[in-house]
Amino acid sequence: MSQHSLYWFTQDLRIHDNHALKAAQDSSHLLCIYIVDPRWFENKRWQHASMGGHRWSFVQDCLSDLAQKLQTLGQRLHIYYGKPEDIIPKLCHTYDLDHLLCARMAGSYEQATVKAIDDSLPSVTVDLIDHYTLFESLNLPVLLEEWPASYTPFRKIAEPVVTRNVLDSPTSLPPMPTLFTLPSIQRPNWVPAPAPSDCAFRGGETEALQHLNAYFSSELPLDYKNVRNALDGWDNSSKFSPWLNQGCLSARQVKSAIEQYESENGSNESTRWLYVELLWREYFQWSHHKIGAKLFRFRGVAKKGPLTSYYAERYQKWCNGQTPYALVNACMKELKTTGYLSNRGRQIVASCLVNELSIDWRYGAAWFEHQLVDYDVAANWGNWQYIAGVGADPRGGRHFNLEKQTSLYDPQGEYRKKWGGLVVGPLDSVDAADWPIMPPEQH
Ligand code: FAD
Repeated sequence: MSQHSLYWFTQDLRIHDNHALKAAQDSSHLLCIYIVDPRWFENKRWQHASMGGHRWSFVQDCLSDLAQKLQTLGQRLHIYYGKPEDIIPKLCHTYDLDHLLCARMAGSYEQATVKAIDDSLPSVTVDLIDHYTLFESLNLPVLLEEWPASYTPFRKIAEPVVTRNVLDSPTSLPPMPTLFTLPSIQRPNWVPAPAPSDCAFRGGETEALQHLNAYFSSELPLDYKNVRNALDGWDNSSKFSPWLNQGCLSARQVKSAIEQYESENGSNESTRWLYVELLWREYFQWSHHKIGAKLFRFRGVAKKGPLTSYYAERYQKWCNGQTPYALVNACMKELKTTGYLSNRGRQIVASCLVNELSIDWRYGAAWFEHQLVDYDVAANWGNWQYIAGVGADPRGGRHFNLEKQTSLYDPQGEYRKKWGGLVVGPLDSVDAADWPIMPPEQH
């Protein structure tokens, strides 16, 4: 039976290796949509909106690029503003659509939304497509019921597993529904206007594939493991994450590029390590599928109570790079200015928030969620749990010695200078009994 399909693009903003477009090939009609959800911009429990300026600007680039690509295939990308659980049922009823395609998402809010849509549309087949991840839910290297509590056992099983082949981009797509008239959709005023950003990343599949090709045309993959911990420098890590996490780049495409590179240049520890890191992404995705909303709990999956609280002033200082720790301040300024921070920088500032500042780790995760151009729910909250000692870390948390990190990764102070990382003190302007702390000269 020919289907009338609706493809709801989410974090799969590409046409290469796109299994939803493949599944839609046999449909008689296809409507492609993207939905901008007002909840992304609302302040949440941990004070910040999920979507900050860096990522929002990146997403808009992704949408323009995708719209152009779909146009060359005789299709269009229709952008709606509102809640998917309101918009999708209306579209299905109005245009007689009987098939909904969307990527399988790990986020528990996203899953609840898809479930609400599914429940409200009994006559519509909902197809969840596994193309954000390397593996598919029905073909995981380990069953979710037996999911390893830490990464290493997962890696040992998953590393040799063969993943699906990468799909080519389609050369044509089914037409839009016959009765479809272009709605005149105005941008509502809750949608933030584009803001200037010093983010180095431009969104979209075109940029993603260019970057992938440039990276694998260089010698950088051969040295990746030796330099990946550096605090600064575009070339010290792959920088794939923003594109991977909006789906401009498929994880399988990256895996295939690593394999191709190894067949032409030989494999070494560095080229292998790139895949090991990609498997971390995978581990966090499926862990979130398994643990659901426990990802956001203070006591985490390890059910441990870290000795942290919420100190408003300390938190503000941490966010704005005004702590007594110069290296942390430099990192936090880079994050706020650019939307990106190296993995080492993320570990250092997260450890500082938890251990030096004794703040509830979830406030740190929420600030990252708002600032990061490469934010991914499972990777971000999973890594935060890990550092806070309530997650998938058999060692029970990480406390980075700030002096040691400074002498290892910024011995000449170049990074601190670049980002204006100064020592700012004191940490608290009131003491525990609410007495203002006097500067030393007033004592
Ligand atoms: P590379 O070093 O080149 O690694 C290649 C790819 O492997 C990355 O693009 C990413 O997809 C994956 N990867 C590498 N390290 C990790 C890791 N520790 N966890 C999961 N995947 C990994 N990564 C995100 O993609 N989104 C986040 O929101 C995010 N939040 C983080 C929060 C904290 C507190 C920490 C410590 C790490 C976080 N990471 C997150 C992981 C990591 O810092 C970034 O993936 C990495 O810095 C991205 O840069 P890259 O693409 O150059 O990475």
